[in-house]
Amino acid sequence: MLAYTYIDKGKFALVEKPRPVLIEPTDAIIRVTMSSICTSDLHIKHGSVPRAVPGITVGHEMVGVVEEIGAEVTNVKPGDRVTVNVETFCGECFFCKNGYVNNCTDPNGGWALGCRIDGGQTEYVRVPLANQGLNRIPDSVTDEQALFVGDVLATGFWAARISEITEEDTVLIIGAGPTGICTLLCVMLKQPKRIIICEKSQERRRFVQTHYPDVLLTTPEECKEFVLKNSEHGGADRVLEVAGSDDTFRLAWECARPNAIVTVVALYDQPQILPLPDMYGKNLTFKTGGVDGCDCEEGLRLIEAGKIDTTPLITHRYPLCEIEDAYHIFENKLDGVIKVAIV
Ligand SMILES: [Zn+2]
Ligand SMILES: [Zn+2]
Repeated sequence: MLAYTYIDKGKFALVEKPRPVLIEPTDAIIRVTMSSICTSDLHIKHGSVPRAVPGITVGHEMVGVVEEIGAEVTNVKPGDRVTVNVETFCGECFFCKNGYVNNCTDPNGGWALGCRIDGGQTEYVRVPLANQGLNRIPDSVTDEQALFVGDVLATGFWAARISEITEEDTVLIIGAGPTGICTLLCVMLKQPKRIIICEKSQERRRFVQTHYPDVLLTTPEECKEFVLKNSEHGGADRVLEVAGSDDTFRLAWECARPNAIVTVVALYDQPQILPLPDMYGKNLTFKTGGVDGCDCEEGLRLIEAGKIDTTPLITHRYPLCEIEDAYHIFENKLDGVIKVAIV
């Protein structure tokens, strides 16, 4: 089978590999029917994910059909359509029991697929701890509708959940890339008083304007002033930093009102500065980290009920044999791309 593979820093290539087989009784083999490219794949390509193992198949966003299951897999059976979770987790350790599945202490715990073990930009993938990592897709939900459930939508859902948003809040989301828009969709479910999106790309601002006309839009240059003008208490009540560019961490806490919650979803290429003297007296709460992807069932339920629709994010579709072109478009943000589906 063909597998898009991390060769070395800066280099991915489509290579021929044998089909994966069951190793543990908790494994499942999934025939990938659709996958996508995530910014984290680019982080691997650029060498900024030290844990990433050269030689592995990349890709951690996918949906598929269960081909084979190990003896201890009980939640799915061959033939089931499933979403695959970006995170592998045991469901039994201290962290899993508290919903912090990103910190699962299992050797395979956390982001393993497409990073430390073979992932989904291929034809078949072995999913460890399949009882936790697979969710059945309802019959009325298509592959395209379910494609982002295990990763970017899970991230948006988690970000909105931990931000403790109320209906009184002005929420600022920095960044309207794929994760920013998924975060927006989940923040909208909380029905805050006002949502402001700060995005530097005009193309992406236009995308938000077209699909979500109630959202207020601003640019990084005008953001601080805009938020001040469009909030009641000297800044946003909740700030969700999803951009991860050089100045957006600073922008995030600067736009927050005193006693606000600032949720940092972004993965930075560089260390960030926390200038405590500058923010003294602002009494901010920072929440940081990687997604706890344990709400995929809920994500699928919301999609089935028509409350979340991520399909507008799929702007491009490519067959696996042309994945190189898909990466070129995605990496260079060409042709208005938000997300690419590999079919
Ligand atoms: Zn990802
Ligand atoms: Zn665990």
